[in-house]
Amino acid sequence: MKTTYQYRLRPNKRQAQIFESWLELCRKQYNFRLDERLSWWSENRCPVNSCSLVSCSIAPPREQPNYYEQKKDLKTSKQLFPEYGDVHSQVLQNVVERVKKVYERYTVPDKNGKRSGKPRYKKVGRYRSFTFPQMKVDSIQGNRINLPKIGLVKMIVHRPIPVGFQLKTTTIVKKAEHWYISLVLEDVSIPEFIPDIIPTAENTVGIDVGVNSFLVTSDNEVIKNPRWYRKSEKRLALLQQNLSKTKRGSRRRRHLGKKLSKTHNKIANQRRDFHHKTAKLLVDNHEVIAHEDLAVKNMSKRVAPKIDDEGKYLPNNQSQKSGLNKSIIDCGWSQFLSILTVKAAKAGRLCVAVNPSGTSQKCSNCNQDVPKKLKDRWHSCPHCGASLDRDLNAALNVKQKLIQRRSVGRHDRNAQAVLNS
Ligand SMILES: [Zn+2]
Repeated sequence: MKTTYQYRLRPNKRQAQIFESWLELCRKQYNFRLDERLSWWSENRCPVNSCSLVSCSIAPPREQPNYYEQKKDLKTSKQLFPEYGDVHSQVLQNVVERVKKVYERYTVPDKNGKRSGKPRYKKVGRYRSFTFPQMKVDSIQGNRINLPKIGLVKMIVHRPIPVGFQLKTTTIVKKAEHWYISLVLEDVSIPEFIPDIIPTAENTVGIDVGVNSFLVTSDNEVIKNPRWYRKSEKRLALLQQNLSKTKRGSRRRRHLGKKLSKTHNKIANQRRDFHHKTAKLLVDNHEVIAHEDLAVKNMSKRVAPKIDDEGKYLPNNQSQKSGLNKSIIDCGWSQFLSILTVKAAKAGRLCVAVNPSGTSQKCSNCNQDVPKKLKDRWHSCPHCGASLDRDLNAALNVKQKLIQRRSVGRHDRNAQAVLNS
């Protein structure tokens, strides 16, 4: 079983300087390697590989730079720029690996035929982490960690590292002027298993996540939506506005930039804390948790433009949708559901995603279709007379869907995600 723990680091001045300089060197290396890949792509991706013109100055097609070639070529970087000798070799190799990943996501379509956008070069301060892919088992000594080529760095161990887990990889991250360390830990002795629980009406709870209230359970427990981002939105807007008025490279700009990133960081921390507490509450009280299989990315998409016959753009209510999108993203459902899934797996409980189709439109009492719009907050069924809150109705439907399905096997998508994590 694998798990990740993150701690705050307290590097001394010298160590912080090393961190900074490594980040900058990694950033330059990243941009250089990415440029090698992208320039090859722009010059050679054309399927025509020969030209009928005799005297042309087109460069002959060259080999595509690949992971191994680039990794070998790190030697040249070290010869040309001796400062690369100070960076741990595996950290540099990891930079090449990151380039490989983003490039492949850009050029090779996934199973749905979709590719990611073109990877961007990183500006100063945009490259925020470096990774040690292998760590010695005894690297952690009390509240210090022994990093290769850097030495013992103090970390704030706010919770103990679980017994029996071994250190695999380590990433140093800079977040809003502070340094953090992510430790990937593995315990091979704990097998990955899915508990053998059969969902029944007694042990199962269905949850419906929403924007109005963060979630409603099928037992009609309502958890309010704290709307962290919405609360700080004005302050963020003001900071952003002030920042845009300052001169590039000025002290004030740097100062405001720090403030802005601190605020964003705080919002993210508050949200994560809330997610953990809510997930714990659910896992403590229920054996099986059913939730909708949400595609948050699709839900928070922009509205397709409407164009009339003359090519003019018609109103498409994008501004309303933008407001909803902000609220959807502010909820952070994906993060919550992944926290919930992991927490449930650790506690030997079951957390299963069900198909979301029809959960809000069907009546939980008589299973007939009761069409309603997003603004209709109350479910009243004309067929059986059931009258209840819309979200509660959806939560009951989610619960029923899971109980009726019964076969919760290894092929369940979310369970698989836990297995792979
Ligand atoms: Zn009904």
